[in-house]
Amino acid sequence: MWSKKILIIIYKKHLYLLLLMILLVLVNIVLYLTQFIYRNYQVPETVTFSANDTSTLSSSANVRNPKLAIILDDFGLNRAGIEEAMSINRHLTFAIMPFLKYSKQDAITAHTKGYEVIVHLPMQSQKRDNSRWLGPRPISLNLKDSDIDKITSDSINAVPYAAGLNIHMGALASEDKRVVSAVMRVVKRKKLYFVDSVTSSRTVCGLVAKNIGVPFIERNVFLEGSSKNKSYVKQQLSVAEKLALKNGYAVVIGHVGSAGGKATIQAIKETIPEMEGRGIRLVYVSELLK
Ligand SMILES: [Zn+2]
Repeated sequence: MWSKKILIIIYKKHLYLLLLMILLVLVNIVLYLTQFIYRNYQVPETVTFSANDTSTLSSSANVRNPKLAIILDDFGLNRAGIEEAMSINRHLTFAIMPFLKYSKQDAITAHTKGYEVIVHLPMQSQKRDNSRWLGPRPISLNLKDSDIDKITSDSINAVPYAAGLNIHMGALASEDKRVVSAVMRVVKRKKLYFVDSVTSSRTVCGLVAKNIGVPFIERNVFLEGSSKNKSYVKQQLSVAEKLALKNGYAVVIGHVGSAGGKATIQAIKETIPEMEGRGIRLVYVSELLK
């Protein structure tokens, strides 16, 4: 009789514990969902810095001194616009694809002429990817962590003077936490920064960079889109300028080669003096992360 009563008491105690655990699990699910929704639906203009980066962008200081970082992607391959880009003579950041005919040459010329150099790391962009646009050793989802580590490390070594890294294509790979983490660990080891081009709204690059402690910033505006003509690029530069005036800074990405080329460079060249006249200062990406 007594033993039966004791058993009931123990059962009741465990029932409370069980209910408490279910409640905790539910609270965790709600918290996770809230974070998930926030991460995926935040305003794309947001610029995030890593937890390690103690700098804060005081809006009043930066609105008095608005900065614009222009990144030009796809160096190393097609030559359209490369010579023109190398003669802009401002603080610009050039993203150079590794393992291509002109990778090393473009990196050395860019560095010598005073541009900031970053690695433009090719990563898988869709389920069946067109490898022609990805170069010889892209990061794909079927690679093991150790292979991703090796390719990322070799890519950085193939681009002399690299201060940072961004992704070429990569819409699918940038959503994969395992793949992005394997890349980001190398970026951390090599003491580089990471720029997320945001080719997918479900990118996990910012989250992973924060967890691993890599200086991080997001692209705000692409210079080319549905149209690649000069007037469209100028329109996009004006969007970027407005953002810089509002937030203190903006990060834009344009392209040399077939994705942008001479029209993009011409638009930048013609717009720079006008923007500078309105107080915008062109900066390297690293100058936004200081
Ligand atoms: Zn690219």
